[in-house]
Amino acid sequence: LRANLSVIQKETGFVNGLITVLHDITEQEKIDMERREFVSNVSHELRTPLTTMRSYLEALAEGAWKDQEIAPHFLEVTQTETERMIRLVNDLLQLSRMDAREYELNNEIVDFNKFFNKIIDRFEMSKPEHINFQRLMPDTDMFVEIDTDKMTQVIDNIISNAMKYSPNGGNVRFGVILKDDMLKVMVSDDGMGIPQDNLERIFDRFYRVDRARARAMGGTGLGLAIAKEMIEAHGGEIWAESEEGKGTTIFFTLPIQLEGEGEWE
Ligand code: ADP
Repeated sequence: LRANLSVIQKETGFVNGLITVLHDITEQEKIDMERREFVSNVSHELRTPLTTMRSYLEALAEGAWKDQEIAPHFLEVTQTETERMIRLVNDLLQLSRMDAREYELNNEIVDFNKFFNKIIDRFEMSKPEHINFQRLMPDTDMFVEIDTDKMTQVIDNIISNAMKYSPNGGNVRFGVILKDDMLKVMVSDDGMGIPQDNLERIFDRFYRVDRARARAMGGTGLGLAIAKEMIEAHGGEIWAESEEGKGTTIFFTLPIQLEGEGEWE
Protein backbone atom coordinates (compact mmCIF):
# COMPACT_ATOMS: atom_id res chain seq x y z
CA LEU A 1 0.00 0.00 0.00
CA ARG A 2 2.77 2.38 0.93
CA ALA A 3 4.49 1.88 -2.45
CA ASN A 4 1.23 2.53 -4.26
CA LEU A 5 0.62 5.63 -2.28
CA SER A 6 3.99 7.08 -3.01
CA VAL A 7 3.42 6.52 -6.71
CA ILE A 8 0.03 8.20 -6.48
CA GLN A 9 1.55 11.01 -4.51
CA LYS A 10 4.28 11.55 -7.05
CA GLU A 11 1.90 11.62 -9.94
CA THR A 12 -1.15 13.36 -8.57
CA GLY A 13 -0.44 14.71 -5.11
CA PHE A 14 -3.58 12.81 -4.06
CA VAL A 15 -2.15 11.39 -0.86
CA ASN A 16 -2.57 14.64 1.00
CA GLY A 17 -6.30 14.35 0.50
CA LEU A 18 -6.31 10.76 1.65
CA ILE A 19 -4.44 11.61 4.81
CA THR A 20 -6.99 14.30 5.60
CA VAL A 21 -9.82 11.79 5.21
CA LEU A 22 -8.13 9.35 7.59
CA HIS A 23 -7.63 12.17 10.04
CA ASP A 24 -11.33 13.07 9.87
CA ILE A 25 -12.32 9.50 10.65
CA THR A 26 -10.28 9.41 13.81
CA GLU A 27 -11.73 12.78 14.78
CA GLN A 28 -15.23 11.35 14.22
CA GLU A 29 -14.34 8.27 16.24
CA LYS A 30 -13.16 10.49 19.04
CA ILE A 31 -16.44 12.39 19.01
CA ASP A 32 -18.41 9.12 19.01
CA MET A 33 -16.35 7.79 21.88
CA GLU A 34 -16.85 10.98 23.87
CA ARG A 35 -20.57 10.83 23.21
CA ARG A 36 -20.78 7.23 24.41
CA GLU A 37 -18.79 8.09 27.48
CA PHE A 38 -21.05 11.07 28.14
CA VAL A 39 -24.23 9.00 27.92
CA SER A 40 -22.74 6.37 30.18
CA ASN A 41 -21.74 9.09 32.67
CA VAL A 42 -25.20 10.63 32.66
CA SER A 43 -26.83 7.25 33.20
CA HIS A 44 -24.51 6.47 36.05
CA GLU A 45 -24.98 9.88 37.66
CA LEU A 46 -28.74 9.42 37.59
CA ARG A 47 -28.76 5.80 38.64
CA THR A 48 -26.83 6.43 41.83
CA PRO A 49 -29.33 8.85 43.43
CA LEU A 50 -32.25 6.80 42.08
CA THR A 51 -31.07 3.56 43.66
CA THR A 52 -30.36 5.37 46.91
CA MET A 53 -33.87 6.77 46.87
CA ARG A 54 -35.37 3.41 46.05
CA SER A 55 -33.83 1.76 49.09
CA TYR A 56 -34.87 4.56 51.43
CA LEU A 57 -38.41 4.58 50.04
CA GLU A 58 -38.59 0.79 50.36
CA ALA A 59 -37.53 1.00 53.99
CA LEU A 60 -40.14 3.69 54.62
CA ALA A 61 -42.85 1.64 52.92
CA GLU A 62 -41.91 -1.42 54.94
CA GLY A 63 -42.62 0.38 58.19
CA ALA A 64 -39.86 2.90 58.83
CA TRP A 65 -42.46 5.64 58.24
CA LYS A 66 -43.84 4.82 61.68
CA ASP A 67 -40.52 5.48 63.38
CA GLN A 68 -40.43 9.11 64.44
CA GLU A 69 -36.66 9.10 64.74
CA ILE A 70 -35.79 7.49 61.44
CA ALA A 71 -38.56 8.63 59.11
CA PRO A 72 -37.63 12.33 58.92
CA HIS A 73 -34.02 11.40 58.20
CA PHE A 74 -34.97 9.00 55.41
CA LEU A 75 -37.23 11.59 53.87
CA GLU A 76 -34.48 14.14 54.03
CA VAL A 77 -32.15 11.82 52.12
CA THR A 78 -34.67 11.33 49.34
CA GLN A 79 -35.20 15.07 49.23
CA THR A 80 -31.48 15.80 48.97
CA GLU A 81 -31.07 13.25 46.21
CA THR A 82 -34.04 14.68 44.32
CA GLU A 83 -32.57 18.17 44.57
CA ARG A 84 -29.29 16.93 43.19
CA MET A 85 -30.97 15.18 40.27
CA ILE A 86 -32.84 18.37 39.45
CA ARG A 87 -29.55 20.30 39.49
CA LEU A 88 -27.97 17.66 37.31
CA VAL A 89 -30.77 17.71 34.75
CA ASN A 90 -30.75 21.51 34.70
CA ASP A 91 -26.99 21.52 34.14
CA LEU A 92 -27.37 18.96 31.36
CA LEU A 93 -30.06 21.01 29.66
CA GLN A 94 -27.88 24.04 29.85
CA LEU A 95 -24.90 22.23 28.32
CA SER A 96 -27.07 20.80 25.59
CA ARG A 97 -28.39 24.27 24.74
CA MET A 98 -24.82 25.52 24.61
CA ASP A 99 -23.74 22.62 22.40
CA ALA A 100 -26.59 23.38 20.02
CA ARG A 101 -25.78 27.11 20.23
CA GLU A 102 -29.38 27.64 21.26
CA TYR A 103 -28.74 30.46 23.61
CA GLU A 104 -28.11 34.13 23.52
CA LEU A 105 -25.96 36.26 25.70
CA ASN A 106 -27.99 39.09 27.15
CA ASN A 107 -25.01 41.33 27.38
CA GLU A 108 -24.81 44.58 29.24
CA ILE A 109 -21.91 46.81 30.16
CA VAL A 110 -21.14 46.64 33.86
CA ASP A 111 -18.41 47.70 36.22
CA PHE A 112 -16.87 44.32 36.97
CA ASN A 113 -15.61 45.21 40.46
CA LYS A 114 -19.03 46.29 41.61
CA PHE A 115 -20.61 43.19 40.10
CA PHE A 116 -17.97 40.85 41.58
CA ASN A 117 -18.15 42.45 45.05
CA LYS A 118 -21.92 41.96 45.18
CA ILE A 119 -21.53 38.23 44.55
CA ILE A 120 -18.78 37.96 47.16
CA ASP A 121 -20.99 39.87 49.66
CA ARG A 122 -23.72 37.32 49.19
CA PHE A 123 -21.32 34.44 49.94
CA GLU A 124 -19.79 36.31 52.86
CA MET A 125 -23.19 36.45 54.58
CA SER A 126 -23.49 32.68 54.71
CA LYS A 127 -19.89 31.47 54.73
CA PRO A 128 -18.70 29.15 57.49
CA GLU A 129 -16.62 30.76 60.20
CA HIS A 130 -13.45 28.85 59.45
CA ILE A 131 -13.18 30.49 56.05
CA ASN A 132 -11.92 34.05 55.62
CA PHE A 133 -12.47 36.23 52.62
CA GLN A 134 -9.79 38.57 51.30
CA ARG A 135 -10.52 41.00 48.51
CA LEU A 136 -7.59 42.20 46.46
CA MET A 137 -9.31 44.45 43.99
CA PRO A 138 -8.15 47.84 42.83
CA ASP A 139 -10.44 50.77 43.37
CA THR A 140 -10.89 51.59 39.71
CA ASP A 141 -13.89 51.04 37.50
CA MET A 142 -13.43 48.24 35.02
CA PHE A 143 -16.09 47.87 32.40
CA VAL A 144 -16.89 44.59 30.75
CA GLU A 145 -19.72 43.50 28.51
CA ILE A 146 -21.26 40.41 30.04
CA ASP A 147 -24.42 38.42 30.49
CA THR A 148 -24.70 39.05 34.22
CA ASP A 149 -26.92 36.02 34.93
CA LYS A 150 -24.56 33.63 33.21
CA MET A 151 -21.46 35.22 34.68
CA THR A 152 -23.05 35.09 38.15
CA GLN A 153 -23.50 31.38 37.67
CA VAL A 154 -19.84 30.97 36.66
CA ILE A 155 -18.56 32.91 39.67
CA ASP A 156 -21.00 31.23 42.08
CA ASN A 157 -19.64 27.90 40.99
CA ILE A 158 -15.99 28.87 41.37
CA ILE A 159 -16.56 30.38 44.83
CA SER A 160 -18.63 27.46 46.09
CA ASN A 161 -15.91 25.09 44.88
CA ALA A 162 -13.26 27.12 46.73
CA MET A 163 -15.27 26.70 49.94
CA LYS A 164 -16.37 23.11 49.30
CA TYR A 165 -12.84 21.90 48.72
CA SER A 166 -11.39 23.74 51.75
CA PRO A 167 -12.54 21.36 54.49
CA ASN A 168 -10.04 22.78 56.97
CA GLY A 169 -10.90 26.37 56.20
CA GLY A 170 -8.38 29.05 55.36
CA ASN A 171 -8.49 32.11 53.17
CA VAL A 172 -10.36 32.55 49.96
CA ARG A 173 -8.77 35.43 48.03
CA PHE A 174 -10.48 37.37 45.27
CA GLY A 175 -8.47 39.38 42.82
CA VAL A 176 -8.98 41.41 39.67
CA ILE A 177 -6.24 42.93 37.55
CA LEU A 178 -5.98 44.53 34.16
CA LYS A 179 -3.70 42.80 31.71
CA ASP A 180 -3.41 44.14 28.17
CA ASP A 181 -6.97 44.37 26.88
CA MET A 182 -8.22 41.76 29.28
CA LEU A 183 -9.50 41.64 32.79
CA LYS A 184 -7.92 38.84 34.76
CA VAL A 185 -9.97 37.49 37.64
CA MET A 186 -8.68 35.18 40.35
CA VAL A 187 -10.30 33.09 43.07
CA SER A 188 -7.73 31.38 45.22
CA ASP A 189 -8.13 29.01 48.17
CA ASP A 190 -5.98 27.22 50.78
CA GLY A 191 -7.88 23.98 50.34
CA MET A 192 -7.03 20.43 49.40
CA GLY A 193 -5.68 21.28 45.96
CA ILE A 194 -5.70 19.19 42.78
CA PRO A 195 -3.01 16.73 41.67
CA GLN A 196 -0.97 18.18 38.80
CA ASP A 197 -1.96 15.48 36.26
CA ASN A 198 -5.65 16.20 36.79
CA LEU A 199 -5.48 19.93 36.57
CA GLU A 200 -6.66 20.35 33.00
CA ARG A 201 -9.32 17.70 33.28
CA ILE A 202 -11.36 19.51 35.93
CA PHE A 203 -13.02 21.48 33.12
CA ASP A 204 -14.19 18.24 31.46
CA ARG A 205 -17.77 17.12 31.89
CA PHE A 206 -18.21 14.83 34.90
CA TYR A 207 -14.55 14.82 35.76
CA ARG A 208 -13.90 14.86 39.50
CA VAL A 209 -10.68 14.29 41.36
CA ASP A 210 -12.48 12.41 44.11
CA ARG A 211 -15.81 11.20 42.79
CA ALA A 212 -17.27 10.03 46.09
CA ARG A 213 -16.31 13.16 47.97
CA ALA A 214 -17.52 15.50 45.23
CA ARG A 215 -20.84 13.68 45.05
CA ALA A 216 -21.26 13.75 48.79
CA MET A 217 -20.83 17.53 48.56
CA GLY A 218 -23.81 17.63 46.25
CA GLY A 219 -21.93 18.56 43.08
CA THR A 220 -22.95 17.50 39.61
CA GLY A 221 -19.46 17.42 38.10
CA LEU A 222 -20.63 19.85 35.42
CA GLY A 223 -20.05 23.21 37.07
CA LEU A 224 -16.61 23.93 35.66
CA ALA A 225 -17.51 22.51 32.25
CA ILE A 226 -20.36 25.02 32.08
CA ALA A 227 -18.08 27.77 33.37
CA LYS A 228 -15.58 27.06 30.62
CA GLU A 229 -18.23 27.20 27.88
CA MET A 230 -19.57 30.46 29.25
CA ILE A 231 -16.23 32.18 29.67
CA GLU A 232 -15.26 31.17 26.14
CA ALA A 233 -18.60 32.44 24.82
CA HIS A 234 -17.63 35.79 26.36
CA GLY A 235 -14.27 35.76 24.56
CA GLY A 236 -12.22 34.82 27.60
CA GLU A 237 -10.25 31.88 28.90
CA ILE A 238 -10.34 29.89 32.13
CA TRP A 239 -7.64 27.77 33.76
CA ALA A 240 -6.46 26.47 37.11
CA GLU A 241 -3.23 26.39 39.05
CA SER A 242 -2.93 24.18 42.08
CA GLU A 243 -0.68 22.46 44.53
CA GLU A 244 -1.96 19.35 46.23
CA GLY A 245 -2.56 19.94 49.92
CA LYS A 246 -1.87 23.68 49.57
CA GLY A 247 -4.67 25.16 47.53
CA THR A 248 -6.12 26.01 44.17
CA THR A 249 -6.43 29.15 42.10
CA ILE A 250 -8.94 29.51 39.32
CA PHE A 251 -8.22 32.28 36.82
CA PHE A 252 -10.39 33.61 34.04
CA THR A 253 -10.15 36.49 31.64
CA LEU A 254 -12.73 38.73 30.01
CA PRO A 255 -12.23 41.31 27.28
CA ILE A 256 -12.26 44.83 28.65
CA GLN A 257 -14.87 47.22 27.37
CA LEU A 258 -13.19 50.62 27.38
CA GLU A 259 -15.40 53.21 28.92
CA GLY A 260 -17.64 54.82 26.35
CA GLU A 261 -16.04 52.98 23.47
CA GLY A 262 -18.24 53.16 20.43
CA GLU A 263 -21.10 54.54 22.46
CA TRP A 264 -21.59 57.76 20.48
CA GLU A 265 -20.84 56.57 16.99
P1 ADP B 1 -18.31 19.32 41.21
O1 ADP B 1 -19.77 19.42 41.13
O2 ADP B 1 -17.81 17.93 41.37
O3 ADP B 1 -17.70 20.28 42.20
P2 ADP B 1 -17.01 20.96 39.17
O4 ADP B 1 -17.11 20.88 37.67
O5 ADP B 1 -17.40 22.24 39.80
O6 ADP B 1 -17.82 19.74 39.72
O7 ADP B 1 -15.50 20.62 39.56
C1 ADP B 1 -14.88 19.46 39.04
C2 ADP B 1 -13.86 18.89 40.02
O8 ADP B 1 -12.72 19.76 40.11
C3 ADP B 1 -14.34 18.73 41.45
O9 ADP B 1 -15.01 17.52 41.64
C4 ADP B 1 -13.05 18.78 42.24
O10 ADP B 1 -12.43 17.51 42.23
C5 ADP B 1 -12.17 19.73 41.42
N1 ADP B 1 -12.15 21.11 41.96
C6 ADP B 1 -12.83 22.18 41.49
N2 ADP B 1 -12.55 23.29 42.20
C7 ADP B 1 -11.66 22.92 43.16
C8 ADP B 1 -10.99 23.62 44.22
N3 ADP B 1 -11.16 24.92 44.44
N4 ADP B 1 -10.15 22.88 45.00
C9 ADP B 1 -9.95 21.56 44.79
N5 ADP B 1 -10.57 20.86 43.80
C10 ADP B 1 -11.41 21.52 43.01
